[in-house]
Amino acid sequence: MFVLKNKNQMDKAITRCRQIRPTVKFDCFGRYRVSGSKGGYYTVICRKDERGIKTVECTCRAGDRGIPCFHAASVLGLHIWLSKQRQATN
Ligand SMILES: [Zn+2]
Repeated sequence: MFVLKNKNQMDKAITRCRQIRPTVKFDCFGRYRVSGSKGGYYTVICRKDERGIKTVECTCRAGDRGIPCFHAASVLGLHIWLSKQRQATN
């Protein structure tokens, strides 16, 4: 799990994501599954706590150690877009 602070921390992960082009599956809002570079799927969970701190969890090894991974990078665009849609309708 890592805290989402700024876009720069995701730079490397975004580059990897563009190279690998993983498949993203939508489970529900804040919960996605992303294909790994060696097959299989990892679950990515995006959350915002009551203090407004955004955290991203991924079930891969990097995510486990708190390193932003390309799985997280690949769902962030979608997640941010969905959050905006939700805010617009609330
Ligand atoms: Zn990951």
